Amino acid sequence: MKQNELVIAIDGPAASGKSTTAKLVASRLGYTYIDTGAMYRAVTLVALGAGIDPSDQKGVEEVASHLSISFRRADDGSLRTFVDDEDVSIAIRDPDVTASVSMVSSWSGVREAMFKLQREMSRKGGVVMDGRDIGTVVFPDADLKIFMVADIATRAKRRKNDLVELGTKQSVERVAQDLERRDQFDSNRGVSPLRKAADAVEIDTSGLSIEEQVERVLEMVKKSQRVEGSRS
Ligand code: C5P
Repeated sequence: MKQNELVIAIDGPAASGKSTTAKLVASRLGYTYIDTGAMYRAVTLVALGAGIDPSDQKGVEEVASHLSISFRRADDGSLRTFVDDEDVSIAIRDPDVTASVSMVSSWSGVREAMFKLQREMSRKGGVVMDGRDIGTVVFPDADLKIFMVADIATRAKRRKNDLVELGTKQSVERVAQDLERRDQFDSNRGVSPLRKAADAVEIDTSGLSIEEQVERVLEMVKKSQRVEGSRS
C-alpha cells in the first residue's frame, strides 16, 4: 500500500447518499470504490434466476460461495458490476431483487462469502467501501469511518429519482415504505446488522448537495492522512 492510502468505510441506511458520495470520493482520490450492496444484490439476482427462494438458507449460501463478482470500468468511465462475464449493473436494481436482498444478505454463509471477496478486493489499500457493516465488521480498523444518514423524505425522493432513471415508476410513499422496511430488516438481523461504529463520524446529508457531501468526506480524509503521516 502506498503511504497515506487509506481504507475508508461508509455505512448507513438505504439511499442516505453513501454510494454517490463514495464513488466521487474514490474518483477524486484515485482510490478503488467497492459497492458492497451491489454484491449482495448480485447474489440475490442469481439466486432468484435459479429459482431459489430467498428464505432457503442453504440454497442461497451455495450460490454465494460459487459466485465470481467483479467491478469493471466501462468505456464511458462508469463502474459496472459483473457476475462472471455478464454485466448485471441494471438487473441488480430491479424491484424484485430489491425486495429480496435483505433476506438473502441476512444468511451467515452469504456474508462470509462476500466478506472474503471484499477483503481480497481491498488487499492493495486505497479503498472506499460502502455498505452496512464495513466499519463494524469488514474493516473494524478502517482509517476513516463515516455513517451517513438522511431523513426519510429526502431518501425516498432520491431513490424515486434513481428508479425513474432505471425506467421504473413508483410513488414516493411506496418507495419510503420499502426503504423503511429494508432498514428495519437490516438493523435487526442477527449477523452484521446495520449499526453505526462507535468511532464513526455521522454525516446527515438531508440538506446537503452532492458536492457538499463529497467535500465533507475529503476534509476528513485530509485530517486522517495528517494523523497517519505524523505516525509514520
Ligand atoms: O446499498 P444497497 O441499498 O444497494 O444494499 C442492498 C442491500 O444489501 C441492503 O438493504 C442490505 O440488506 C444488503 N447489504 C448488506 N451489507 C452490506 C451492504 C448491503 O447486508 N455491507
